[in-house]
Amino acid sequence: MIILKRKVIILGDGVAGQTAAIYAARADLKPLVITGYQPAGQLSETTEVENFPGFPDGIEGTELVERMRKQATKFGAEYKFDKATKIEGEEMNYKIHLEGGEILEAETIIIATGASAKKLGLKAEEEYFGRGISACATCDAAFTRDKTVIVVGGGDVAMEEATFLTKFAKKVYLVHRRDSFRASKIMQKRVFDNPKIEILWNKIVVDVKGDGTKVTKAILKDTQTGEEKELETDFVFYAIGHKPNTEFLKDFIELDEHGYVKTNRMLETNKPGIWAAGDVQDKIWRQAITAAGTGAAAAINAERYLSEKESENN
Ligand code: NDP
Repeated sequence: MIILKRKVIILGDGVAGQTAAIYAARADLKPLVITGYQPAGQLSETTEVENFPGFPDGIEGTELVERMRKQATKFGAEYKFDKATKIEGEEMNYKIHLEGGEILEAETIIIATGASAKKLGLKAEEEYFGRGISACATCDAAFTRDKTVIVVGGGDVAMEEATFLTKFAKKVYLVHRRDSFRASKIMQKRVFDNPKIEILWNKIVVDVKGDGTKVTKAILKDTQTGEEKELETDFVFYAIGHKPNTEFLKDFIELDEHGYVKTNRMLETNKPGIWAAGDVQDKIWRQAITAAGTGAAAAINAERYLSEKESENN
C-alpha cells in the first residue's frame, strides 16, 4: 500500500539526516525523514560534543540533534518513526518499504542511516548484553556508581567513555589489544591523567561471566603471551568502533567491502537520484560536523537534480 509520495525522503535522523532535512525543507521540498528506532543517531549515545563549531562551551549530543530537528520542522520537514527495510524501483520513482508495512514513494532519497556500535561476538552477549555488557556508556553509566568497570577499545570513544565512567565507577580498566592508542592525543592525555583509570595493554576480552543476573568477571587474554586471566568486574563496555547500517540496502545499492555505501565525490550512489551522507558512507572522518556537511551537500544535490528534471519536462 503506497501512502505517501514525496520529492525527497531522508532515511535516518542523526546529524546528517537532520542537516539534509533543514536544507531540503528550506528549499521547499517538504522532506519526510524516516527516523529508524534509535532517534538522533549516534549522538544520542554521546555526552558532551566539544568540537561542533559554534558551541565554545560544548553541547549535549541529544540537544544538538533536537535543535536541528526543531530547525528542520520549522521549515516544513516531517518525521516518521519507522525503519526502512528495502528500496526498489527506478529513477524518479523509488519505493521504500517500511517495517510497519507501509510503502513510500520517493523521487529522490538521501540515505543517512549511520553506523552502529560493534560487539565482540562473545557467547555471553546473549545472556548479559544490556545486563552488564553494554555498547553505550552514556546510557548505562548511572548504573555503575561505586562499581568496577571495563572499557574495551583504544579509539576516541574508548577514551571518552572511560573518562566519563570515572564520574560514577570506583575503578575503570581500559583494555586495549595493542600497546598504543589510536585516539587523539588530547583524549589520551585525559585518560593518562585520570587516577581512577588503569590501562591494560595487549589484552582482549575472550569471555564474560556472571551469576545469572549480572556480570561478575571477564576473562582477558594477553595478545603477546596467550596467557588468560580473570578480572573481577561489574560491567564491560564496548568501544570498538561501528558498522554501517546498510543491511537493508545490499541488494539495491552498491556497498564497499566493509558495507559502507559507495559514493563518488558528489555523494552519489550507483542509483540516480539517491545520495548517501554521514557515517553510512564515511569511514574516514566520522565526525558530527562532517556528517552535517555531507547532509547539506546531499540535500543541495537533490534540489538541483529535481530542478533539472523539472526543466527537462517543461
Ligand atoms: P575507532 O575505529 O577509532 O576505534 C576502535 C577501537 O577499538 C580501536 O582502538 C580498535 O583497536 C579497537 N577494536 C576494534 N575491534 C576490536 C576487537 N574486536 N577487539 C578489541 N578491540 C577492538 O572507533 P571509535 O568508535 O573510537 O571512534 C569512531 C570515530 O569517531 C573516530 O574517527 C573518532 O576519532 C571519532 N570520535 C571523535 C570524538 C571527538 O573528537 N570528540 C569523540 C568520539 C569519537 P586498534 O586500534 O588496534 O584497531
